Amino acid sequence: MKKYSVYLAFLLSVFLFSPFASLGDSSSFRETLTQVSTLDALLNGAYDGTVTYREIEKKGNFGLGTFQALNGELVALDGKFYQVRANGKVYPVSPEEKTPFVSVTFFEPDLKFAMAGVNYDEFEKKLNAKIPNPNLFYAIKVEGVFAYLKTRSVPKQSKPYPPLIEVIKHQPTFEFKNIRGTMVGFWCPQFIKGINVPGYHLHFISQDRKSGGHVLKFTLKKGVVSLDITPNLFLMLPKKPVTLQEKNGENEIEEIER
Ligand SMILES: [Zn+2]
Repeated sequence: MKKYSVYLAFLLSVFLFSPFASLGDSSSFRETLTQVSTLDALLNGAYDGTVTYREIEKKGNFGLGTFQALNGELVALDGKFYQVRANGKVYPVSPEEKTPFVSVTFFEPDLKFAMAGVNYDEFEKKLNAKIPNPNLFYAIKVEGVFAYLKTRSVPKQSKPYPPLIEVIKHQPTFEFKNIRGTMVGFWCPQFIKGINVPGYHLHFISQDRKSGGHVLKFTLKKGVVSLDITPNLFLMLPKKPVTLQEKNGENEIEEIER
């Protein structure tokens, strides 16, 4: 089973890389979601970084992810990369820093609309109605004032790395009221399960760039939502084999994300 997974990952990398090489069009590349590793690998404790942020910065100016040994949450916005560590503080990301899992794109909005007085569930419903085709990727930016916002970060792990479901049992969470800032994230299609998070995944950075994290809950008081339709996927898989330790439960992604 393990061998089969590694094989499948290899075949997928060949399949996904080949058509990309022939695109050769910079406008297409800017409409690409670039991702390092897979969600299944991350869930199973593949926390060793494989690609530097120096490389990632060439692939996008907007996105989310994590760091070597799961040392916090990444927010990339307007070409600036921020690390929200487990102490709740925000640090600039060194280009030498490696990531085990990240998703970035060049953010160029195709759709823009105002939204007010919605919680996460209502936000999802409204956005579902706005998304032209759920089988594409969308980069999502929400700028505004949040009446309430709850985020989390993850503490740096040491080997042997525990699976993500164990890590988040001890995750520090942070609550804010009437905070101004930006949520940065993605909609991924349902068929992406195993590779990325199906549905919505959002990170937050405050306007003063002093707080943030992976978004667990929010009520948006008033804001502007921008969507960048992203039809391409570029997947950078770890070259060393990743040990997938255990089978993930059905509700595991839901538990980890919210
Ligand atoms: Zn996250």
